[in-house]
Amino acid sequence: MKQSFYDLNYSDLETVINQNNLNGSAASVLFNWHYKKKEQTQCLDNIAKLAVDFFQNNFDFSLPEIDTVYESNKDRTVKFLFKLKDAHKVETVLIPFNNKYSICLSSQVGCAMNCSFCFTGKQGLTRNLTTSEIVGQFLQAWRWLATHRPGEERILNIVFMGQGEPLHNFDAVKKACEIFLSKHGTSVGIQKITISTAGYIPGLKRWSEEIPGVNLALSLHSPFEAKRNELIPINKKYPLDEVLTYIDQIPLNKKQFVTYEYILIKDFNDAPGDAKKLGSLLAGKSAYINLIPFNAFPGSHYQSPDLDKIEQFKAVLDTFKIPTLIRGTKGDDVLAACGQLNSKN
Ligand code: SF4
Repeated sequence: MKQSFYDLNYSDLETVINQNNLNGSAASVLFNWHYKKKEQTQCLDNIAKLAVDFFQNNFDFSLPEIDTVYESNKDRTVKFLFKLKDAHKVETVLIPFNNKYSICLSSQVGCAMNCSFCFTGKQGLTRNLTTSEIVGQFLQAWRWLATHRPGEERILNIVFMGQGEPLHNFDAVKKACEIFLSKHGTSVGIQKITISTAGYIPGLKRWSEEIPGVNLALSLHSPFEAKRNELIPINKKYPLDEVLTYIDQIPLNKKQFVTYEYILIKDFNDAPGDAKKLGSLLAGKSAYINLIPFNAFPGSHYQSPDLDKIEQFKAVLDTFKIPTLIRGTKGDDVLAACGQLNSKN
């Protein structure tokens, strides 16, 4: 089987070109063609016939196939169900803001973390995605926008918050970030990429050492270890206090901050006492809090909180002077909101 072209970061591509004595300028031309222009065809522009033939014969340029597109009637969120070569499926979400988009990428088929509030977690881990399957979600979503919403193909933020624990598939996610960041490629700003984690400490270590400028979002969800154990079973192995201590000692650059995600679940973690404890844990840190009302999914036993409880929760956090945002439940009518993704459609 041929290797996917989209598994190569820029330096891998340069190595292939050097090892095969091809013209060195082919690397920037190829990256430009496939990632900046996002062309589907083989690149024939300003590139020697020898290099064209070499890549045609030795690399696979196919991308994950769009199986189904769900468009929200409420807020123009778009959810893609992608079919991979081995017939497994993953979901990707485009979240609109002011005619631009954030893209929420999946990093695994299923997930090993088994979080109790998450539809994906219920499926277990099937396998890791490859770099090309991650980058391919972005390219296919961009091309879909170019065709179906011309003029709106502006994906400005990339968040790894879809299916899977990105830090549990670190090598593929890191390489995808390198491709997104490459000035020869999509050239996304480093502050525009966010990796979310349930608190997988081995991956956190690699993130801080290997892709340090990329933003981090920690799924916190409860400041109390016992409740967090129920929500995020990996907390039993890597408890919240160890995760926070680890994050605290990572030097962040000037514009960098850590986002703490908090799913509010009715009568479980939405009381003022939870907010107070959360505030005291995060006060004084370079932190943002995203409050996300729980989104129901088939078979879940949790419920969404009442609106007044959400506002009360935020009011308590405001007393700690931590910037806090109540996130809307975009795309919930097409099961595209946080925690609602699954691969079994
Ligand atoms: S919330 Fe994230 S880490 Fe937890 S099971 Fe779902 S996909 Fe995995």
